[in-house]
Amino acid sequence: MSQQTFDVVVAGAGPAGTTAALLLARRGYKVALIERGEFPGAKNMFGGVLYSRVLDEIVPGFYNRAPVERFVNRKIVSLLSEDSVVSLDFNSSAFKNPPYNGFVVQRASFDRWYAGEAVKAGVLLLNQTIVDDVIREGGQVAGVRVRRERGEIRARAVIAADGAVSLLARQAGLRQAFAPDQFSLGVKEVIQLPPRAMEERFSLNGNEGLSSEFLGRMGNGLHGGAFIYTNRDSLSVGVVAQVHSLKARGATIYDALDSFKCHPAIAPLLEGGRFLEYSAHLIPEAGAKMVPRLYTGGMLVAGDAAGLVLAGGLFLEGVNPAVTSGRLAAETIIDAFEAGDFSEKMMARYESRLKESSVLQDLKRYKGAARMLLNERLYEYYPSFVCRTLERWFTVDGAGHPKLAGMVKKLLDQDIGLWQAAKDGYQMGRAWLW
Ligand SMILES: Cc1cc2nc3c(=O)[nH]c(=O)nc-3n(C[C@H](O)[C@H](O)[C@H](O)COP(=O)(O)OP(=O)(O)OC[C@H]3O[C@@H](n4cnc5c(N)ncnc54)[C@H](O)[C@@H]3O)c2cc1C
Repeated sequence: MSQQTFDVVVAGAGPAGTTAALLLARRGYKVALIERGEFPGAKNMFGGVLYSRVLDEIVPGFYNRAPVERFVNRKIVSLLSEDSVVSLDFNSSAFKNPPYNGFVVQRASFDRWYAGEAVKAGVLLLNQTIVDDVIREGGQVAGVRVRRERGEIRARAVIAADGAVSLLARQAGLRQAFAPDQFSLGVKEVIQLPPRAMEERFSLNGNEGLSSEFLGRMGNGLHGGAFIYTNRDSLSVGVVAQVHSLKARGATIYDALDSFKCHPAIAPLLEGGRFLEYSAHLIPEAGAKMVPRLYTGGMLVAGDAAGLVLAGGLFLEGVNPAVTSGRLAAETIIDAFEAGDFSEKMMARYESRLKESSVLQDLKRYKGAARMLLNERLYEYYPSFVCRTLERWFTVDGAGHPKLAGMVKKLLDQDIGLWQAAKDGYQMGRAWLW
């Protein structure tokens, strides 16, 4: 590849990079969107639910054209013990109407479609091209090096949207190596079911869909969660485990997925299903404390590359922060073009915009959640405690029916002590409630 010049180079055609590229191209800038995969989405996976309102502002009514699976009107959150489950089941009629609250999507088809929208707006998409490094000139980033012969692509501005382990942010000196306790690993299987079984097992009509998230002790004592999402005629079934717990237990995440699939509350939902595909991906889960330096002269970092994921154990939102940060990166670069100034001071406007947006405000608001996710009792003890307590309470055996509060107090005192339980309760309250 000979040297080429663009107004902006965007590394990574996930939701963050594609959003930035699309918005810049709409304003008439010459943009290269560089993707290492065979096509955008080829290497991407998530659970997952795309919450629709943020994207709807960028591509109004996207769900009428994009390859979405089902809208999500039912959400279940559950605590899982080895042999039982306690759930909160929420079903909303409001979520059945445009612009909907969220859709189950498959990234391989969705990211490809979204990048196609950017291409239609004038973006040059370069697939199968790995961005390796930044080019610096006069103390500013002035392009990227790609893994091809003479592969230099010059630009006035670069956006690193190259995902969770962003090589580019590191090469630009914007972040240090991450620690294992800042990441979780997610694996997912897509399992095909006959449409009738989908409707009957999950109480779905037409395009209605379900997102179901579980917290508990996964197989081999891994700390994490699990999920089931309904596609049109298949299920996305997966587990997420903290990388440090995988390391500490010497366990594999495949075992955790197998044990989740064999759980007595889960196995009947999957019965007769046909395995279609398998994928795995890292999630930056440490919240505000893993956000790197977000800018330098000529360069911005967006999406997972900047650790902008809202993770709270029973919820995980990464696509919206990615789309929003991509939009704010594009707006900052438009300012820079208008001022003819790509200095660090001008790029700092990106951070200010992020601070004013829900992205950094949510990370700040839920900073206690990132800490709480490291509390091993959240997985090892409380889910099974809740299941056991309710099992005892609901058991009718003629031996008397104790009051719930007394039972809870007695069991907590025996198991972990009331002081520890109070401290954990306060931590969970700070993380989720106030
Ligand atoms: C198991 C799991 C479940 C999840 N569930 C949800 C969910 O339900 N809802 C939700 O909102 N979020 C969810 N997320 C998080 C969400 O997927 C991410 O936060 C989101 O994809 C981030 O978008 P991004 O564009 O920043 O990065 P990515 O989507 O990772 O895109 C980065 C892109 O850059 C490319 N790339 C990487 N390195 C290079 C390079 N050197 N050169 C060129 N290209 C490169 C990659 O191939 C990729 O296309 C989940 C994640 C996982 C792993």
